[in-house]
Amino acid sequence: MVKELPWLQTKKETTSMTMRLYDTARQEIVDLEVGDHVQMYVCGITPYDSTHLGHAATYLTYDLIIRRLEDLGHTVELVRNVTDVDDSILPKARELGIDFLKLAESEMDRFSQDMEALNTRPASSEPRATESIAGMIELISALESGGHTYTIDGITYFDVSTFASFGKLSHLTNAEMVALAAERGGSPDDPRQRNALDFVLWQPSADDEPRWDSPFGPGRPGWHIECSAMSMDALGTTIDIHGGGGDLIFPHHECEIAQSECVTGELFSRYWVHAGLVAYQGTKMSKSLGNLVFVSDLRQKIDPRAIRLALMAHHYRSDFEWFDEEGPQAQSDLEWLVRAAGDADPVSHGPLIDEVRSALDDDLDAPRARAALLAAAQSIEDGAGPPHRGCLVAAASLCGIDLRE
Ligand SMILES: [Zn+2]
Repeated sequence: MVKELPWLQTKKETTSMTMRLYDTARQEIVDLEVGDHVQMYVCGITPYDSTHLGHAATYLTYDLIIRRLEDLGHTVELVRNVTDVDDSILPKARELGIDFLKLAESEMDRFSQDMEALNTRPASSEPRATESIAGMIELISALESGGHTYTIDGITYFDVSTFASFGKLSHLTNAEMVALAAERGGSPDDPRQRNALDFVLWQPSADDEPRWDSPFGPGRPGWHIECSAMSMDALGTTIDIHGGGGDLIFPHHECEIAQSECVTGELFSRYWVHAGLVAYQGTKMSKSLGNLVFVSDLRQKIDPRAIRLALMAHHYRSDFEWFDEEGPQAQSDLEWLVRAAGDADPVSHGPLIDEVRSALDDDLDAPRARAALLAAAQSIEDGAGPPHRGCLVAAASLCGIDLRE
């Protein structure tokens, strides 16, 4: 269950503090200028395989942002979708010989258990693509009326030449976008496309795939339109913060922007925050290589709080490699923190709390926050008095780690 942190509530009116985060679109660290209520959309999982460490690193990034925003007195509405129909879950279900929705159901359960074990704030809503088809059809129809689409062989494409700012998020050259599109599910060589970067909005389903009726023929949605529809349905035309792994910047998020802004004429997201990718001991972590580190396996070996602590050692924006020895090291760091905290009650203020807040405000410098926690444990061990213990409990709770469990 979510633990409230009443001893840490800072009312926004009483502080001039603001989080600063790197905005992918502006390509710089900026003040996060948001109202009392913050709307955040984070691209969720495709539920065809278990939660791995890369997912955990991504979702813990947004969890830390949410915790600090709440600490600053904001309320945060988090929408994290479930991509339960796309080009990766359908082949996997076919390979396993089970219904794709059954596969989605069981993997969503496992994901929820992992997220709960990691003490992440629950999402306000977790829309599923298969339950949001009407909104996608509505968006595609609006795009069609606006002259942004064309249909060939039953496939409806988005015509990127109708959106002048295509590329404004990723800042990639045309050639770089074409190369990445080919790598990440696009089809730049499809001779039916008017432009290499055009992407699928709607497509016919294979015989054993699910299909929905639509004005463009029976079929299923393309991946990108799913998130635009789910985001707008839950949060309206403009959201405050859009997040996801760095590999989603292009093409996924670039395409979301194009199709959304063509329909609404408004800015789709005010800030874009992306998390780095995790490799494993020198190799890209990937399903095909069979080297995924699953959260469910890892938490058999170490306390989920230690997983949080281990991931905090890496800055959210850097791609990093996970090494097996980080698990036991984090477990022993956690045990050290727990011993140092003892049975102290959290206190409302203190230098360590200020230090952790300031680290989080500084482009979510979790490594600095983690180092401050460990330094505090050291000074308690060296004889610092009881208030320091309460300060450590409060500062760790800001990072989602309850030392009193
Ligand atoms: Zn998405």
